[in-house]
Amino acid sequence: MNLKKHPKIYNLIKAEERRQAETINLIPSENYPSKAVLEATGSILTAKYSEGYPGRRYYAGNEIYDKIELLAQKKAKEIFKIDESYHVNVQPYSGTPANLAVYLGLLNFGDPIMGMNLSCGGHLSHGHKVSFSGRAYKVIQYGVSQATKRINYDEIRKLAKKHKPKLIISGFTAYPRKINFRKFHQIAKEVGAISMADISHIAGLIVAGLHPSPFPFTDIVTTTTHKTLRGPRGAIIICKNKFAKVIDRAVFPGIQGGPHNNITAAKAVCFEEARKPAFRKYQEQIIKNAKVLAQELKKYGFNLISGGTDNHLILVDLRNKGITGKEAEERLEKAGIIVNRNTIPNDPRKPFNPSGIRLGTPAVTTRGMREKEMKKIAFWISEVISDSKSLSKIREEVRKWTICYLHT
Ligand SMILES: *Cc1c(COP(=O)(O)O)cnc(C)c1O
Repeated sequence: MNLKKHPKIYNLIKAEERRQAETINLIPSENYPSKAVLEATGSILTAKYSEGYPGRRYYAGNEIYDKIELLAQKKAKEIFKIDESYHVNVQPYSGTPANLAVYLGLLNFGDPIMGMNLSCGGHLSHGHKVSFSGRAYKVIQYGVSQATKRINYDEIRKLAKKHKPKLIISGFTAYPRKINFRKFHQIAKEVGAISMADISHIAGLIVAGLHPSPFPFTDIVTTTTHKTLRGPRGAIIICKNKFAKVIDRAVFPGIQGGPHNNITAAKAVCFEEARKPAFRKYQEQIIKNAKVLAQELKKYGFNLISGGTDNHLILVDLRNKGITGKEAEERLEKAGIIVNRNTIPNDPRKPFNPSGIRLGTPAVTTRGMREKEMKKIAFWISEVISDSKSLSKIREEVRKWTICYLHT
């Protein structure tokens, strides 16, 4: 391996490989891509500029890049089962730039937009005040119902009627239940808004037919490719044809320069993998695992936001356990269990040290873990949270145990 000629970075990469192999990764937005995805990511395609779009580039020598980009677009349409009424842009560097490109393309600065607030599961790029999206636009934020911790569509309709946003964003980063994209679209149409669904977290479930799809009605759909989809770090935008021109122009030259073609090729690989029957089975197992993990945690007295999960993630309210999200995250990390602290709806605490943790099953499912393993993980989580003296003992158990599971 040529990387060995750079021992510092080589050793760090090896150390990270080992860390990944020896820990249990429950971060719902992370996953291990296939070797094929990694190979495309590390390929020579990284060498070239191709500003512009297939057939109209600002650089010479793009004959093959055009084919790669068109292939990625075609495969994206296939997995989401959409026809020629939609257009795909595969160039966004990541989820946040994809969303910003949508806003830049469709809105004027200061326009009203609606998104879910961070503490209820919305993403920073959906209008949070620290994000560009919250500073450039007038943001009306919705939350979840106090009682059920679920989306209340009547409330959202009321807010939309009152504020007349130009864009309504659905799709979340810490919401454990199904989303009714059709209702969101209907509400948008009632108030003359454009509907946008950011399906970053659940794209894999949607492709597998395990979560309602935002197609074929939602105006704009964005998604990252590195979460449940198991692709490279990156994103795509899918829009109705009437928005194709403004969206393409907003991505390039609006907020990006040359596309990362190695990543575009890796996206095409990931879409191809997502068409296989094994991908559907994998997504089914992600949900089964999340349900078992949720049930087991409840047995150990954990309070789950909304009482459980329909998808790949679980949000735990730790207040009855006498520990904050940050403390729990740190303690679990010492035991080799990687989770992330997260706000709970209307969290009395600040996002830096919130009241909850967020757990997800995509990465552990990729490693071949199933229901039996989820029970073991729930047991360890409970031990760690209830007894801070057990950490080093559990760390050793986790290390020995995780080595037995496939790691790409
Ligand atoms: C992860 C995520 C993003 C952002 O993706 P980055 O690639 O980290 O910029 C945007 N929206 C949602 C809903 C997400 O879950």
